[in-house]
Amino acid sequence: MSVLVIGGAGYIGSHTVRLLMQEGYDVWVYDNLIAGHRAAVPEGCLIEGELADHLRLSQIMKEREVTSVVHFAAFASVGESVEHPAKYYQNNVVASHSLLTAMLAAEVREIVFSSTTATYGIPQAVPIREVETQRPINPYGFTKLVIEQMLRDYQHAYGLRYAALRYFNAAGASADGSIGEDHRPESHLIPIVLQVALGQRESVTIFGDDYPTPDGTCIRDYVHVDDLATAHLAAMRTLHAADGDGMQRVEVNLGTGKGHSVNEVVEACRRISGHAIPSVKGARRAGDPPELVADPSLAKQQLGWEPRYVDLDEIVETAWRWHRDHPQGYGQA
Ligand code: UDP
Repeated sequence: MSVLVIGGAGYIGSHTVRLLMQEGYDVWVYDNLIAGHRAAVPEGCLIEGELADHLRLSQIMKEREVTSVVHFAAFASVGESVEHPAKYYQNNVVASHSLLTAMLAAEVREIVFSSTTATYGIPQAVPIREVETQRPINPYGFTKLVIEQMLRDYQHAYGLRYAALRYFNAAGASADGSIGEDHRPESHLIPIVLQVALGQRESVTIFGDDYPTPDGTCIRDYVHVDDLATAHLAAMRTLHAADGDGMQRVEVNLGTGKGHSVNEVVEACRRISGHAIPSVKGARRAGDPPELVADPSLAKQQLGWEPRYVDLDEIVETAWRWHRDHPQGYGQA
């Protein structure tokens, strides 16, 4: 099988690329390197390009006899999406539409898509099941929901088989510490806290401590990036095996089922790094629901997927190893 990984030089993409290669797939990475890193992918598989260039993309799919697409390319910061929604609709929605156009032209009929817990908005019930109504409360969540709907419609009309994987909070780094998280600017909690541990920032700001949670800070379900990679592999196999009479569509949550507050994450980072990590109280960040925790049982049932990392300290340990050994990430800031 030949797999085209869109956005494969990014955080979750690069971990998935590595796993697919280990499993013996022919893997091609298509990335514009705006958020991705050349050093995050093995030499020889990277094709630099824009998603808007659907003619070139379909050409690449035909030439390389691509059977499956895995699509990671997106902007993914909740706060930024509230400030700059145009950037999010352009990059996430318009570009994904272009990708689907290329797939139809090249007759590629399988796609694994990075969706998100942010499509649920403020859930009626936690842990969140897939039957929960999807009512996003920020532009980022809306952009991902629009793409999910496009996939449903394309499945119905064009026979596109898809998996929409709704990630909770991706975290950690590869166990050998060679690839990890490097966003610029960084907006995610664990890398920011570990940058404080490294002395690169003075403190971490806690965005709100008056939420209706036990310690007042937001609760999230942190899932290891290598576990997300495994889920992509399982989803791809499930769609491919389907070929005609099996699963045409998969829509599942990917989380551990365990929630941790912002304060607990900071505490875990103090424990693992051995550094003090000053924190300051700040205002709530626009677009943040109080509690997002997955019920991952459907992913287990449909994909046979279960996270190997269920302990927050173990997840933070892998992140710490990456940040400690690569204080500048993939290169100079
Ligand atoms: N957060 C925080 N300070 C920061 C960054 C994040 O308190 O500097 C909080 C944020 O409000 C959310 C949680 O940490 O409740 C996880 O945020 P992140 O941006 O990592 O992921 P998201 O939940 O937005 O996908």
